[in-house]
Amino acid sequence: MNAPDRFRAIVIDKVDGVQKAALRAVTLDDLPAGNVLVRVEASTINYKDGLLLSGAIPLIHSYPMVPGIDLAGTVIESSDPRWKPGNRVVANGFGLGEAHWGGLAEYARLDGSWLVACPERFSSEQAMAIGTAGYTAMVCVLALERQGVAPSKGHILVSGASGGVGSVAVSLLAGRGYQVTAMTGRVAERDYLMELGASAIVDRAEFTEPGKPLQEERWSGAVDTAGSHILANICAQLKYGGAVAATGIAMGTDFPATMYPLALRNITIAGVDSVYAPMPLREMAWRCLAAELDQKHLETISSEITLDEVFDLAPQILAGKIRGRTIVRLDK
Ligand code: NDP
Repeated sequence: MNAPDRFRAIVIDKVDGVQKAALRAVTLDDLPAGNVLVRVEASTINYKDGLLLSGAIPLIHSYPMVPGIDLAGTVIESSDPRWKPGNRVVANGFGLGEAHWGGLAEYARLDGSWLVACPERFSSEQAMAIGTAGYTAMVCVLALERQGVAPSKGHILVSGASGGVGSVAVSLLAGRGYQVTAMTGRVAERDYLMELGASAIVDRAEFTEPGKPLQEERWSGAVDTAGSHILANICAQLKYGGAVAATGIAMGTDFPATMYPLALRNITIAGVDSVYAPMPLREMAWRCLAAELDQKHLETISSEITLDEVFDLAPQILAGKIRGRTIVRLDK
């Protein structure tokens, strides 16, 4: 199949120092250099896409930029021996949407070394129901288990549980046999979180104020998407030898904690970055997702929008109002 001369893309420009995003037509010649051309079938909106579209944090390296840190689609042309036309692929991170035109366009030209084969079990839409958020959740679970966290050691806490990373983390951990406590600011989402496998819910408000440096030992491990006081309080509540996979900044980028849980309880804070995660870890994460993620949960967590609906959704994700994962259909 040949690519059309013109196709739709969300393009962010900077005019007189002000960032502006619009849906417009671009050409193949506009696409950046790369050795693989992909027809994008689906993308998604992560928290970071909200940041990119809003300009709230200066993440974009150069303008014009097509946002979208995720994409799934089919290879149309390739001079990379690893990929042939017709291959189904997924791309996450590697500067997509920040330093290199990303997934919120009908076509993308990419470096073949950034691509992962889309697991056969998933359609492009399902792969984007997972997207960076879900793949990061899997990397967090693997990071905890590398630190010795196991179902037999006690309860696991997941913060931002109704969000993208949180929802998938709850489902994956429950699937691996953990007793999962979901922390949420939206206690009205209790039924949703229980359906994903949470066995208990805690109110985020219990974690957002400064707390004592050492508190009751409650959790053998945690996945934290919030940072700030939430991460500090989680550290103060980890059991001796426990670990937290710290990946997000939904509450803040600060970390107002003390050394006590590290020095007296031997806890581990495992930082998790998915953007430049090495390829073997990415491939392992996608293999585990394909093997473990409950198909029913994938449907429960995901909803679909079209490219022109992205503008309304981006501010909502930054306001913490989006539940689960949002797929952007490029074929509609
Ligand atoms: P979402 O917006 O989907 O989820 C974030 C969740 O955090 C919300 O749904 C909400 O859950 C909770 N939340 C919202 N506002 C606040 C607040 N002020 N304080 C505390 N919690 C809040 O985002 P994602 O799941 O896509 O991403 C979560 C975080 O992880 C983001 O900070 C993102 O940048 C980061 N991330 C980092 C990656 C990396 O490579 N390091 C990769 C992927 C994500 P609830 O209502 O249930 O409390």
